[in-house]
Amino acid sequence: MKWKEQLLGLHAYQPGRTIDEVKREFNLEKIVKLASNENPFGSSPHVTEELKKVDGSFALYPDGYATNLRHALAEFLQVSPSELVLGNGSDDLILMISRALLAPGRNTVMASHTFGQYKHNAIVDGAEVREVPLTEKGEHNLPAMLEVMDENTSVVWVCSPNNPTGTYNSESSLVEFLKQVPEDVLVVLDEAYYEYVVAEDYYDALELVKQFHNLIVLRTFSKIYGLAAFRVGYGVASESLIQTLEPIREPFNVNTLGQIATQAAISDQDFVKSCSIKNREGLTQLYSFCEEHGLTYFPSQTNFILIDFKVDGNEVFQYLMKHGYIVRSGVPLGFPTSVRITIGSKEENEGLLNVLTTFLQEKAAAI
Ligand SMILES: *Cc1c(COP(=O)(O)O)cnc(C)c1O
Repeated sequence: MKWKEQLLGLHAYQPGRTIDEVKREFNLEKIVKLASNENPFGSSPHVTEELKKVDGSFALYPDGYATNLRHALAEFLQVSPSELVLGNGSDDLILMISRALLAPGRNTVMASHTFGQYKHNAIVDGAEVREVPLTEKGEHNLPAMLEVMDENTSVVWVCSPNNPTGTYNSESSLVEFLKQVPEDVLVVLDEAYYEYVVAEDYYDALELVKQFHNLIVLRTFSKIYGLAAFRVGYGVASESLIQTLEPIREPFNVNTLGQIATQAAISDQDFVKSCSIKNREGLTQLYSFCEEHGLTYFPSQTNFILIDFKVDGNEVFQYLMKHGYIVRSGVPLGFPTSVRITIGSKEENEGLLNVLTTFLQEKAAAI
């Protein structure tokens, strides 16, 4: 068949191991999954309440414009409903942007290493991918990204805070960058972890959208809101940018239950705040552990931490899995001696750190 040539070298997304699989393989009773940056505290009780009221009219298509959710979100963010685009997760928005702007003969600029979906979609759409190494601090090297752009660049991706390093770009560096990107190049600012950020020199991305009409900000209900199962993300940009992007969107891309669940979740910002606070406490637990054991890590603005164990990341990953903790090996993420660990509840973090302590002791004894 006449497949696009670039598809032949691609692999399907490798989802993390499921809890059931790991339980069976290692004969474990309890598994703690700290692999996909999901919220260990679940989601707001408002969501469960609203879902209980769902009446079962499942034969009907969803509201394609997600009217109620859109208005609730617009009010919450203090933007106009016409400045929003909704996606089946922010993955869907990344795909839409790629389809709209990337093609053979064009190129796209991103960090290395960052969230894998930017590159994946760019390859599918046949664009050249220009990757710029992160700085030593794990941050996007924005000046170097400017340098590799040329007249064929159509999209530049900025993941801040960045997955998998958890680091961010300061307001001054981002604004400087935005001022220099040509107006006909789309800047995608992926803020999947926005609600976890505590850094003081962080920017207000929605204010930047008002100043820079070539900027789109992506956020999601999958992380701090704890609604990954529903697949809802959103983009904020100028009205004319959204209008041009909208025809790419599948007509019913956000499902009915997802619209109900996320609208309810927006109304419970106390839940979001309390998760952010508990996450900071969890991060502190992991920082202390790293310092105690002389392990290096990137200070994180997210609900995960990338720790360098100075051994094969797959080995740490396997060891933790055998003991009931699923994390992400740094190997496929571009950090071969690290693992990426989602911050869990206090008890989950304690359990994980106990296993890691034993691991480090066994390693030390083996030398
Ligand atoms: C998790 C994640 C996403 C995808 O989120 P969905 O809304 O669940 O598709 C996007 N970007 C980054 C950086 C992420 O970590």
